[in-house]
Amino acid sequence: MDWTRGHTIGRGSSATVSAAKSIWCDEVFAVKSVELSESQLLQKEQKILSQLSSPYIVIYKGYDVTKEKDKLTFNLMMEYMSGGTISNAIRKQGGRINEQLIGCYAKQILLGLEYLHSRGIAHCDIKGQNILLGKTGAKIADFGCARWVDAAERDDGSAAGSIEQFGGTPMFMAPEVARGEEQGCPADIWALGCTIVEMATGRSPWTNMTNTASLLYLIAFSGESPEIPKFLSLQAKDFLYKCLRRDAKERWTAKELLRHPFLEESYSNSTINQDYATSSPTSILDQDIWNSVEESEKMNHSIQTVSSALQRVRELGSNSRESKCGWNDDQIWITVRSTIGQ
Ligand code: ATP
Repeated sequence: MDWTRGHTIGRGSSATVSAAKSIWCDEVFAVKSVELSESQLLQKEQKILSQLSSPYIVIYKGYDVTKEKDKLTFNLMMEYMSGGTISNAIRKQGGRINEQLIGCYAKQILLGLEYLHSRGIAHCDIKGQNILLGKTGAKIADFGCARWVDAAERDDGSAAGSIEQFGGTPMFMAPEVARGEEQGCPADIWALGCTIVEMATGRSPWTNMTNTASLLYLIAFSGESPEIPKFLSLQAKDFLYKCLRRDAKERWTAKELLRHPFLEESYSNSTINQDYATSSPTSILDQDIWNSVEESEKMNHSIQTVSSALQRVRELGSNSRESKCGWNDDQIWITVRSTIGQ
């Protein structure tokens, strides 16, 4: 496909995402790019995303390698999601999302997770920043940490089963991941619970934490779960309680949660469309994407190697540069990934 690169629409810890346009048909899409020599993770993401097809997962459109400013660049093409991330939506809507819309988004994320989990894939980095919004609502994106859960089935370094390959974002990590025991589908459900707390409160699922090492110790060993907001309905609270069970075996699965009464009420698409119409641009042109750069470009974090969450705790505990983790501190939101075996 021949295409031209537009302006930057987002930056994560590993890649830059730009708007792009096909030169043949004016189709607009998003391109996630990394220098070819550093693109192992993006290539792994491309392998996984190219095998997925669900209305609740960002649509894969292809990949290529380009030469830009004398550098070879690996590009992953996907559908452009004009509504931004759930984290953006929380800010746009005054710091909180209402319970009905939370129910809509939770259901769509769960449908995406059910699809992934039924194929033996765990996402491993569910959080508001990785859920993108479009005209039909929420879709799961950023498969940079995703892996096949059954280690025996894969030999490409993307399978779970060894603690060396744990990754994700500390604030959203399940206890078993923080302890370095396992990272499978139940950890995605825990992260969904944390994301719902994020939507409901506009705050971190864990508050009053002073540094990342303490946060990981708290998650791993304290016996506590994130506080369930008191103002939510009984059904929403019960739903969250099922997501945030510390014992991964007791946590409900995506399939079970889809039958929970909290999601039973049918949240019509009109809820999403109505909300979307008031808070989001309807096309890439409305957003003036070709003329403006995303105003809130994130810090360009470097990819970090972790051999286990516990090692991460130890490393962080002795590394004062990384010791802060307030809600407004980007450090707590970074995705940490293993580069071992990739
Ligand atoms: P992370 O730090 O979570 O690992 P990353 O480097 O893997 O990030 P992404 O999370 O995939 O990068 O993308 C970074 C940002 O780019 C997103 O938070 C979002 O704002 C924007 N973005 C990504 N994909 C799309 C898309 N398909 N449409 C619109 N915006 C997108």
